[in-house]
Amino acid sequence: MAQENVNVVARIRPLSNESNDGTCIETDPISSTITLTTNQKQFNMDKVFEQNATQEEIFGYVQPLIATVINGIHGTIFAYGQTGSGKTHTMIGSDENHGIIPRAIEMIFIALNEESEKRNDNFKFKISCTALQIYCEKTYDLLNGNEKIEIPISDIFKNAKEVEVKSSDECMEILKCGLEQRKVSGTSMNETSSRSHAILTLTLKTEYFKENKKHERISRLNMVDLAGSESRKHTNNNKTQNFEASNINKSLLTLGKVIREIINPTQNQVISYRSSKLTMILRDSLGGNSKTTVIVNIHSNSKHATETSSTLDFAVNVKNVKNTAILQEFITSKETLALMQYCTPAFFHSQIC
Ligand code: ADP
Ligand code: MG
Repeated sequence: MAQENVNVVARIRPLSNESNDGTCIETDPISSTITLTTNQKQFNMDKVFEQNATQEEIFGYVQPLIATVINGIHGTIFAYGQTGSGKTHTMIGSDENHGIIPRAIEMIFIALNEESEKRNDNFKFKISCTALQIYCEKTYDLLNGNEKIEIPISDIFKNAKEVEVKSSDECMEILKCGLEQRKVSGTSMNETSSRSHAILTLTLKTEYFKENKKHERISRLNMVDLAGSESRKHTNNNKTQNFEASNINKSLLTLGKVIREIINPTQNQVISYRSSKLTMILRDSLGGNSKTTVIVNIHSNSKHATETSSTLDFAVNVKNVKNTAILQEFITSKETLALMQYCTPAFFHSQIC
């Protein structure tokens, strides 16, 4: 299976009127280059979406990745950028203007329902979701009602509550409830959700028979809304907020470190995935078995030039990470299927894992 670089796309949000200072970047959509006007440094992306890009256009860009997940390959989409740059707008959006997550869920249900109708009885599918939050280096299950239960990271996907969903509406409803559990503190909703990482995962299981063999595919789509990447040294944080900030930064600093280690390997070096919860969860998405797209969100008002520069540095680094995505298919012969009738489910599970 061929190696493939992480795909990196920049989305520039409209200038905000918080300051009348103009923009700190120039973009060339044809060469997908962004130039920082403060020092003329150029950053090459796989694609640049300018201020007026619509949610439809952004979704159109990630649609092929979602199609490969439907066909049995793990995929990850994550949004990176400073607070206010448009990560949540891009990933979740609003009720009137859906972002990637609701559109992806709808696309998956439509595609699998169509396949099921086309092939009559010979195609079954199951979709389930999990929603996790990393806050202050602790991982919480957002689907566990009001209780804030920390999940042991050792086997995160086995310990997280996985909910089977039968329609895109049901799935969105469950995820929305989960996202409301996201840590709320500070002065505004934006301030609070910018302090935690949210990781929504859909698991797709499909099954069909061909030439007396059972083909099962199990793939995952991770959709991640990261905490704001800005440095917080200029803000007037209280003690708790300082603790939060250092832990957010720990996860994001480790993310940057892991990416640098992957792209500049030294002999016998062990990649520091285990140094933060976020990189443990994203391990397969960065240098592993996944197709990954990173959306870097840019708030280009001149007053954000330093943050924009660091976001663009992150983008060019992550673009050099290579993944090897493998079809997640298990084929079982008729003879094995017959034998399995006499085995316990636990025994069967141990055979395919
Ligand atoms: P983040 O999640 O990165 O902190 P948000 O997605 O919450 O940022 O965006 C901050 C504000 O800017 C929101 O009010 C959002 O609606 C608006 N916004 C962000 N990106 C865009 C965009 N591309 N077009 C229009 N409004 C945007
Ligand atoms: Mg946000």
